[in-house]
Amino acid sequence: MANFVGLAVAINAKAECDVAADGLTAVPRKMVLYASNQTHSSVEKAVRLLGLGSNALRKIQVDDTFAIDIEVLEEAIARDRAAGLHPFCIVGNAGTTNTGAFDNLDRLADVSQREGLWLHVDGAFGALAALSPTLKKLTSGMERADSLAFDLHKWMYMPYEVGGVLVRDSEAHRNTFAVSADYLSLTEGGIAGDRSWFSEYGLQLSRGFRALKVWMALKEHGVEKFGRVIEQNVDQARYLARLVEESPDLELLAPVTLNVVCFRFKGPTYCRDDELNELNSDLLIKLQESGVAAPSHTVIGGKFALRVANTNHRTRKDDFFVLVREVERLGRELVNTHPTVFCATEKTASSWDNWKPPGRGAVGVKGLR
Ligand SMILES: *Cc1c(COP(=O)(O)O)cnc(C)c1O
Repeated sequence: MANFVGLAVAINAKAECDVAADGLTAVPRKMVLYASNQTHSSVEKAVRLLGLGSNALRKIQVDDTFAIDIEVLEEAIARDRAAGLHPFCIVGNAGTTNTGAFDNLDRLADVSQREGLWLHVDGAFGALAALSPTLKKLTSGMERADSLAFDLHKWMYMPYEVGGVLVRDSEAHRNTFAVSADYLSLTEGGIAGDRSWFSEYGLQLSRGFRALKVWMALKEHGVEKFGRVIEQNVDQARYLARLVEESPDLELLAPVTLNVVCFRFKGPTYCRDDELNELNSDLLIKLQESGVAAPSHTVIGGKFALRVANTNHRTRKDDFFVLVREVERLGRELVNTHPTVFCATEKTASSWDNWKPPGRGAVGVKGLR
C-alpha cells in the first residue's frame, strides 16, 4: 500500500495532463517507469492497478550484487525517450526481498534529478537500517527520494500490519487523494476540527489506529534500541552466512549485505541444478513441517534457494547452528533414501552412498515426485 501511495502521487505529479480529472487516457505520451528486476511484486501490482499496465514498468537487470545496473537503466531511459514515450519515475530498492540488496540510491537520485524523474524508494525491508549508525551508510541517497515506503512490521518487530510512506511534496500528495465532500468539510472545532483528514493522504477513509502500536513501541523502547537489535540481526545473518560457507554440504547463493541469507543444499558434485532445485524444494517442505525451522524460499539465478530473512528480536545464533545442521542432515537423508530420485543422473559408488543418516530411518517425503 505504501508503494501504491508513492506511485500514485508520482503519476499525478509527473503526468503531462490532469490525471485526477481526465484520467490516464488523456496523457499525450505513454508514461513509463524503471526498477530493477529484483523489485518487489507490489510495485508491479501498483503500476497495474494505477492504470499504467505492467509493461510500463521496465525491469532493469542487476549486477552481481543484485543492485540495479545504472548504465543499463540510463540506456533504457534514452531508448524510451527516443521512442516518444514519457519516462517519469525510478523505483529504487533499499533492501530487496530476495537478497537484501541495496541499489546505489545516490546514483539513482543523480539520474532522477538529471532526467527530471520522480524517485520512489521501496525501503520496506532496508530503510530501517538507517536506525543503526554502522548500517546507515547502506541507505545513503535514500534521503533524496521524492517518496519512501517502509514497513514497521518487518524490521521494527511490530505486529502485522503497519507500513509507512513519506512523500516530500505534501501538496502533490494531497492533490492525488483529496476529494471534497459536504460531510467531510472541516469545522472550527469539534471532531471535524483538525486541519485535514487522513483520507486525503491515501485510499482509505475509515482506518484502524495502526499508529498506536508504533507510538507505544517507540515510547517504550526508544529508537536507539531498535537500531541495536537491527544490527544484531545483521550480525546473526553474517554468522549464518559463515556457517553456510564453512559447510561442505551447503552453498551460499547471494552475497549477504543485510539480514537475508539465501543458500541451498549442494549435495554430491554430480548433482545438476534441476535436480538440486527439486531436492531443496522437498528439503524445505520437510524442514518446515518438522517444526525445526521455517525459512521461506526464492529462486536466485534459476537456483531454488532456502531464504532466511532474519527480522526477529528473539533470534539467537544457536538457532542458526541448529538450522544448518538440520539442513545438512535432511539433505543427506534425501539423497541417500531416494537415490533414484535425487541426483541420480551420474550417480556412481561414492562415499555418499555409504553415509547413514543418524537415528531415524527413511522418512516419507511429502511432495516427492
Ligand atoms: C515485504 C515487502 C513489500 C511488501 O510489503 P507488505 O508489508 O508485505 O505488503 C514490498 N517491498 C519489499 C522490498 C518488501 O520486502
